[in-house]
Amino acid sequence: MNHPPRTPSCTPSRTPSRRQVLTTAATTLAAGALAGCAGSTSGPTAEAGTQVPNAAATTTLVADGKQAMERLMAGNARFVAAQEQDLDEGIARRVAVSKGQHPFATILGCVDSRVPIELVFDQGLGDLVVVRSAGGALDRSVTGSIEFGIAELHTPLLMVLGHQRCGALDATIKAVDAGRRTSAAGSLDYLVDTLAPAVRQVTGKPGDRLTNAVQANVTLTLTKLRQSPVISPLEKSGKLKLIAAYYELDTGRVVLL
Ligand SMILES: [Zn+2]
Repeated sequence: MNHPPRTPSCTPSRTPSRRQVLTTAATTLAAGALAGCAGSTSGPTAEAGTQVPNAAATTTLVADGKQAMERLMAGNARFVAAQEQDLDEGIARRVAVSKGQHPFATILGCVDSRVPIELVFDQGLGDLVVVRSAGGALDRSVTGSIEFGIAELHTPLLMVLGHQRCGALDATIKAVDAGRRTSAAGSLDYLVDTLAPAVRQVTGKPGDRLTNAVQANVTLTLTKLRQSPVISPLEKSGKLKLIAAYYELDTGRVVLL
């Protein structure tokens, strides 16, 4: 069944939130351009005959991180049960979000083709800020992308999502065991170096080593993100919820760590 498109939101068209005030003017200007919100009346318009939905009647914005979590987990339950709603990706939704965006969660996940974030949580256009890197490897670019979702797009929830049988962590385990970096050209060694601390942390511990490494990497990543001057004050003030989670390839379930 179709569910109604949600109201888009755009920085210039609403009262600045306290969170917006926390950001620097320079960042806000750059982010506004990135978000496509700088000129909500000058962007692409609907094709002739396309009806833009009545925004006021269809608002289902989340109030806080708790509500965002409930919405994510409800979507995952639909995904697990193969009872997905029609994703918000139809023409009306596409037109609506072209004017602005108001995603409700920022999620860092792996590039694994079996873990497409919007599908796993049964969400549509404009719902999620998704940052992906192999193994969820955290570097400055990934951190900045996450901060963008939180500080500029105002998502009240940040989730770091590891997953079962992650190939990037598995390759890192092999490299660490061999006492060498990968033999591949390019930047794969950079990934191994970034993920290796999680592997070393679980070496010699009971249980499945790869599962342990994936979950340790999620925890280490969250610890690092908590040191961000953008993320830390928002979490401490209760405006941002941080969640560690793990996706089971076998079941489709997302479990909280
Ligand atoms: Zn992976």
